[in-house]
Amino acid sequence: MGRKFFVGGNWKCNGTGEEVKKIVSTLNAGEVPSTDVVEVVVSPPFVFLPLVKNTLRPDFHVAAQNCWVKKGGAFTGEISAEMLVNLDIPWVILGHSERRLLLNESNEFVGDKVAYALSKGLKVIACVGETLEQRESGSTMEVVAAQTRAIADKVSNWANVVLAYEPVWAIGTGKVATPAQAQEVHSELRNWFQANTSPEVAATIRIIYGGSVSGANCKELAAKPDVDGFLVGGASLKPEFIDIIKSAE
Ligand code: PGA
Repeated sequence: MGRKFFVGGNWKCNGTGEEVKKIVSTLNAGEVPSTDVVEVVVSPPFVFLPLVKNTLRPDFHVAAQNCWVKKGGAFTGEISAEMLVNLDIPWVILGHSERRLLLNESNEFVGDKVAYALSKGLKVIACVGETLEQRESGSTMEVVAAQTRAIADKVSNWANVVLAYEPVWAIGTGKVATPAQAQEVHSELRNWFQANTSPEVAATIRIIYGGSVSGANCKELAAKPDVDGFLVGGASLKPEFIDIIKSAE
């Protein structure tokens, strides 16, 4: 069974209302492969989710960039999974390295968030990835396996999960992983799923790459057998995001 190519756009903490409208109109005008070939999900900041959801072309979907670890309540400043469901937001990004590193989200906390979001019916883009120091010390696979294990400890049904491998040293740096580096980790992650979940999960889970993906480097990365798509930051705010979507073909 083929894995449908997945392209996510992570807008992070960027944009004004005017800028968001401009990005949406660029996306709406873009000529891209059909939904049989590629699944496209863009993730604006929370405050722009309703605007984007209501104006974005229907073949693209939206994701929140985070949600709270359990049911909403007295958690000032948080947004619950229930609220996203209530607004018909189908996807959420969890475990992004910016939140792991800047906001001290632990592997266990991310695992709890993924499990809770899935239990409410959200689909999850779960992010893993090593720092430069970890890569240089040879512990890349150990780090991403531990991050994935913390999710697997709480989740048994992976059907609504896309795993994003995003090496921290490649995020926002312009220093993209080589296609060989990405393929190596993706294939090891797939082996990890084979050994620790089931052959079916290993064969079907989409493992996407993130970190300085651009219109110029996406084709070569997309050609690798275990690269099932991208999570794009900086370039998702620009017209070249359309070129990245086209790399699905
Ligand atoms: P980048 O970000 O494409 O700007 O490197 C990717 C991400 O953080 O998801």
